[in-house]
Order: sequence, then C-alpha cells, then structure tokens
Amino acid sequence: MQTTPTATAWPTGVIARYLTTGGTTVDITERSGHYGVKHPTEHLATCHGCGETHTEDWGWDAQHDAFGTGPQPDFDPTGESHLPAAKQWTQAHAERCRALPRPA
Ligand SMILES: [Zn+2]
Repeated sequence: MQTTPTATAWPTGVIARYLTTGGTTVDITERSGHYGVKHPTEHLATCHGCGETHTEDWGWDAQHDAFGTGPQPDFDPTGESHLPAAKQWTQAHAERCRALPRPA
C-alpha cells in the first residue's frame, strides 16, 4: 500500500509520520477527544502495521471548553506543547514494530 512512505502524500490532518522497522508508517493526527468540544484536545498516533493506537491527551485546559467557558487562558490551541510526548511514543513504537498491514 505504502511502498515509498517518504514520497507519498500525507493524509489530511497528519502532522507527523514515522517509518517503522516493518516498513509501514505510524501517523500522528490531532482530534477532539471529548463530547461537545470542537477544537482538538489530544494527539492520536495510529500504527498502520499492527493497528495499535496511542492518545496523548492535552489535559484539563483543553477540555474546559466543554462547559462553554472557553479554553483556559494558558491553553495552547495548537497542542504544540504535547507533541513531543506524542512523538516520543510514536518513535518508540516505530522502532520495535515489525507488523505489516494485511494486503487489501
Ligand atoms: Zn505497530
């Protein structure tokens, strides 16, 4: 499916992509993980080899908008401050994952 990951256009919303030992990819996207919250509140890493996922929740500040009061003043809507943690998991997973996706 993705024989040349570095040359393939990334799907919409993917902000980071890692190549696994098995030759497939792990993508990081951001999404809203809370009901009624429209802005993103967490990073989601999805491995296309084994299907494992990991969420990096941005915490209470990001969720607070659920009560209609808006995000906290110090909330970073870009989620940048949580990206390193998401990348850390993804990097570690990519290094040990040798799974390949089932051919379509
Ligand atoms: Zn995997």
